[in-house]
Amino acid sequence: MSFKTDQESLRKWFLETKREFPWRKEITPYRVWISEVMLQQTRADVVVEYFNRWMRLFPTIQDLKKAPIETVLKAWEGLGYYSRARNIHKAAEILSETFPEDFHSLTAIKGIGPYTADALLSFAFQKKVIAVDANVDRVLSRYYASTDLKECKRRGEEELSSYRPFEIAEALIELGATICKKKADCALCPLAQGCQAYKGGVVDNFLSTKKRKEAQKVYKEVHLYEHKNLFGIRKKGEKELFRDLYLFEEEEISEKEFLALCKQGPFKMVTATATFYRFHLIANIKKLDAFKEDLEFFTLEECLKRPFSSGHRKILHQLASFLNT
Ligand code: SF4
Repeated sequence: MSFKTDQESLRKWFLETKREFPWRKEITPYRVWISEVMLQQTRADVVVEYFNRWMRLFPTIQDLKKAPIETVLKAWEGLGYYSRARNIHKAAEILSETFPEDFHSLTAIKGIGPYTADALLSFAFQKKVIAVDANVDRVLSRYYASTDLKECKRRGEEELSSYRPFEIAEALIELGATICKKKADCALCPLAQGCQAYKGGVVDNFLSTKKRKEAQKVYKEVHLYEHKNLFGIRKKGEKELFRDLYLFEEEEISEKEFLALCKQGPFKMVTATATFYRFHLIANIKKLDAFKEDLEFFTLEECLKRPFSSGHRKILHQLASFLNT
């Protein structure tokens, strides 16, 4: 058996069992683009709500292009990696409703990386391309019993059917998400007949060829400066982490100081990951006698309308429940 023949079992399995997602209906390059960037952030079932809201707010690239960056970031809030939302907004300025249909022109656009370009070529333009995310990476490396990702992709694409190749490409993603997971359920797998790792009893040797860098832990005290029922926040500047997002003032502290503050209450620790950092945050209300010059002051309701980093958004919600109790 080879992938040439096995892929028809995979297609059959996919068409019978596939999950329904909004981006699998009404397929357009714009919808594929947005869904694929969102899917790089979190699980598909979580993306559904973000995707539907995004399409309500910005149904076309033209709508996205016209929207202020703050509205775009607010729609992205909670997904993390805000630079991706900023890049999408920037790319919307240069893209019309017509997307280029080749890898090099697509990846020349800031905000469209190699994976998203492959996804566009496969799902929107129905080319013989396999978009390799972490799930597909795991499936292919097990199927071919190889950790050479480039070679796995090349072999997969070479053997890919010319008939509706996008179904196979999407089926590989689905297989990795549902059956060929870290702990693989090979008894249910439509690729089992030709899978080299399964046949060789070495499935667990092929988890993923992509290595994750461990995030560095950072502990911070977040100061909720308050004066006349207004809260001080600051919009991050051009060269700062979390650019264009609002944050409360914060300062880095030691783990020991952090644990001591956690015991004091009334707020609870929140965690958030950004790029290579794992932030541990604990908030404190600090009443002021006058406004602080370097901050902008807003009511809680006004704060809630603005885009915050995911950690500070959790704190903002803690503050809202604290004030309402
Ligand atoms: S047989 Fe097992 S290891 Fe091979 S592709 Fe299927 S689930 Fe993955």
